[in-house]
Amino acid sequence: MHEWSLAQAVINGALDYAKKHKLKRAIKINVVLGELQQIDVPAFKLALKELIKEQQAYKIKFKIKEEKAKLRCRACGFEWLFSKTKEKLSEQDSELIHFVPEVAHTYMRCPKCKSPDFEIIKGRGVQIESIEEISE
Ligand SMILES: [Zn+2]
Repeated sequence: MHEWSLAQAVINGALDYAKKHKLKRAIKINVVLGELQQIDVPAFKLALKELIKEQQAYKIKFKIKEEKAKLRCRACGFEWLFSKTKEKLSEQDSELIHFVPEVAHTYMRCPKCKSPDFEIIKGRGVQIESIEEISE
């Protein structure tokens, strides 16, 4: 059900934006999905599709882009991609981090100084990147 409420939030956000900016009848929502998002992507896409059908005000298309997760060490400032360190993790651990990014600190260290004190600076959650008017 998490996927449905997220999809609903994306659509509501887009509709509010479209109304506020007086966009015409057809819009395209560009959605960015982080590599470390806690959702089931196929279920999320299905939810978007179904919910779009239910609203009549706009004709909506969506485009989903995936974003790589990027981490930054708070101790030394080093930045690295989650996918680089993922290879060193067991499949189970990497899966767990994927769905519960908060546990990353338990399993990962900064590749440079070995500090567990890092933050996820990119590639988390679901965001609306932009909304544009399209021709019907
Ligand atoms: Zn470091």
